[in-house]
This record gives sequence, C-alpha cells and structure tokens, in this order.
Amino acid sequence: MLVVKKFGGSSVANPERIKRVAKRVVEEHQKGNQVVVTVSAMGDTTDDLIALMKQVTNNPSEREVDMLLSTGEQVSIALLSMAIRDLGSDVISLTGGQVGIYTDDVHTKAKILKIETGRVMQELNRGRVVVVAGFQGINPNNDITTLGRGGSDTTAVALAAALQADVCEIFTDVDGVYTADPRVVPDASKLPRISYDEMLELASLGAQVLHPRSVELAKQYGIPIHVRTSFDYSEGTIVEEAPNMENAPVVSGVAHDYNVAKIGLFDVPDRPGIAMKIFKALSAQNINVDMIIQSAMRNNMNDIGFTVTQDDLRKTLLTIEAIQEEVGFKGYTHDEDVAKVSIVGAGMISHPGVAADMFEALAEEGINLEMITTSEIKVSCVIKRSETQKAVRALHKKFKLDNLEEAIKYGK
Ligand code: ADP
Ligand code: ASP
Ligand code: MG
Repeated sequence: MLVVKKFGGSSVANPERIKRVAKRVVEEHQKGNQVVVTVSAMGDTTDDLIALMKQVTNNPSEREVDMLLSTGEQVSIALLSMAIRDLGSDVISLTGGQVGIYTDDVHTKAKILKIETGRVMQELNRGRVVVVAGFQGINPNNDITTLGRGGSDTTAVALAAALQADVCEIFTDVDGVYTADPRVVPDASKLPRISYDEMLELASLGAQVLHPRSVELAKQYGIPIHVRTSFDYSEGTIVEEAPNMENAPVVSGVAHDYNVAKIGLFDVPDRPGIAMKIFKALSAQNINVDMIIQSAMRNNMNDIGFTVTQDDLRKTLLTIEAIQEEVGFKGYTHDEDVAKVSIVGAGMISHPGVAADMFEALAEEGINLEMITTSEIKVSCVIKRSETQKAVRALHKKFKLDNLEEAIKYGK
C-alpha cells in the first residue's frame, strides 16, 4: 500500500511533536507500506516570517516572499527526517523543486501543474520514507513558488494523485471536519463524512481545516481525504464523492472568514464594457474578486461593491487608482472592518426557505447584512467584523447543528 500523510504546523510545532509524528510515520512504514509524508512549517513559523518581512519592507517582491516563506517547510522536513531515522526507518527529505513539483509562476498563490514521480518512486523503491516539503513548488524558471496559505494540504493531495496512493491522510489539531470551527462553536459536531462539493464550499468560505485547492484536486482525481488528528488514533472525517444525501443535513456547516475587505466604487458610468474594464484590470494583477454587487442605476450612474482578500487589498487599491480616470468613476471607499459568514449544505437546493432562515437568525441578533451572495449549496453574508462569532453561533443554533440527528430532521 502507498500512503500519503500530511502533518500541519501544529503537529510539528516543537521537538516532542516532531518525534511523535516520526513515531507514527515509522509505525506505518514498519507495517510494510510505502510512506510519503508532507509537512508544514513548525507552529507559527510562516506568520513569524511574514512579521519579520514587514519589519524590512512594506513592498516586497513576491518572488522574494516565496523564497522567504518556503524556508519554514525546509526546516521541518529536515528535522522530521532526522527523527524518523533515529527510530530506525531509512528516510530522505526533498524540497518541492527536488521532487519536481511544477507550478505556474503566480508567486504566493501558485497552482501545481505537474508532479514528476520518478525521484519519489525511486526512493520509495529503495525502501525509504520520503518526506516532502509542503506548500512549495518551482515555476518554469526554476524559481521557488508557494501555493497560498494552508497550501501543504494541496501538496499532499497532489502527491497522492500523482503517485496513485491508496490513502491520503491530513493530520491536524482537530479530529475531523466539524459543523463550524470548534474554536468558535464549542458544541460543533464532527461530521463522519462530507461530500467534495460541500467541503470545497466550506474550505473556500474560510473553514481553514483544508486548503480549497486540495479539495478541488481530490474531487478531480477521485482521491478520498481522511482528515484526522495527529494527537490520537481516532477516526476523523472522510471527504469523498457525495455520500448518502438522504441522511445528510440540509445545512451541513457554518463557515466564517476574516480575510475579507470590501471596496465600493461610486458613480460608475452605466455603459457596456465598464465592469469588464474594472474586473479585467484586477484579474490581470491575479486578484481574486469574490462577491460583486451593482446597485440600481440612477442618472446613468451605478455604485459597484465587491470583496477581495485583505492580503490583496493594497494591490487592489493601487489597481483601482490606476484605472479611475479611464473608467470614470467618481470615488471609492474600502472597509476592512468586515467578515463573511456562510452556511453550506447540498440539501439547500431542494429547501427554498433556508436563506430566509439564515437572515432571520442574523436579524434576531440585530446583525446588519452588508452584502449577500448565494449559490445552489451556500449562502454568504458580509457583516461587521466584531459580530462574526455571534453570527456563527446563531446560525449553528438555528440549523440545530449541535446535534446531527436534529439537523437532519431540520426542514423535513
Ligand atoms: P494545520 O496547521 O494542521 O494545517 P489549520 O490551522 O490550517 O491546521 O487547520 C485546522 C484548524 O481549522 C482547526 O484548529 C480549526 O480551528 C479550524 N477550523 C475552521 N473551520 C473548521 C471546521 N469546520 N472543522 C474543523 N476545523 C475547522
Ligand atoms: N506553512 C504554510 C502556512 O502557514 C502552509 C501550510 O501550513 O499549509 O500557510
Ligand atoms: Mg492548514
């Protein structure tokens, strides 16, 4: 059997934890399985590196950001490999470049295009455990790229797909995927299984537990992901092709995201091609725009509001300024004091009242909705940042998610 295991930052946060992970890896190896391990940087290393960078410059080149951030994972693969060797398994650590994890050249949020399997297979066939640096690859110029925050999950799933692994396990500091972030909702329920589509929404809407791209790849290649804890041997959550929908709750989770900034453009001329100009300019800078609203037209003018991640805010404002004259809007504002709360559930398609119930739960808490978007399996609202936790708890309660049996009955 070929097994891919990914250990997140908290699982390798200190020497004791690294040794514990090593023990777990060696146990698997000594069962006679081929084991590929991918790890994140230790604890808060990536945040610390970003803080360090900000003391040096406000305007870093994205190539150098990747050069800096990729070092965190290099520390952990080396230390983990040393610990594994001490426990008696032959092992080798490899950077993304050494494996041949090829990405596009969008620094700081690169996409994996191809993984060479030759080197890894060769090492596995020599009986070695292979420890691969998560979160990194190389672009067509052989420069180091990173995959976006949380991207080690994607390294793991991409390796599992390329190597046609039998199992892909993501070890983290919670024992599975919950109906909401357990740090915010202590009585959240663990989901034994969840569909790729729902997990993709939850992950994209801020549930940090899996990187969205990892779920996308898992779905594309049909790789089931087992999300579990590295602290014990309990079973976690299986992410897979739609499990039995009859028994799934209408709403299966609540997600929140603080990495949101809202931009408003005022008095935008109401002419064909204007939205194209604005959003093409943003996309040329690799800025992902999330929600977009356009107000009703008056005097041939519109207001357009949209959201981006806070990480992209500076770039967004520079882009907006650069096109203001050409597009001809009068002014713009931005607001970082916001967050997004969302409900996700495949059962929503057939239950039309769910959005109204969401708005009711938020209204009962006196929470104002600044923007709303919906799709077949999610509803998202932008609200004031300070009301996020209250909103998440109210929604979790409304859809009875503290008790999965009750949640399944909801609306039926
Ligand atoms: P790692 O370092 O292992 O990659 P992360 O911090 O990226 O771990 O992800 C795990 C965290 O995700 C948990 O500690 C939890 O607070 C958060 N989280 C957010 N939403 C959820 C959810 N729905 N289910 C489980 N964990 C969640
Ligand atoms: N170390 C990177 C981060 O903190 C990647 C990861 O943890 O998955 O975002
Ligand atoms: Mg993570």
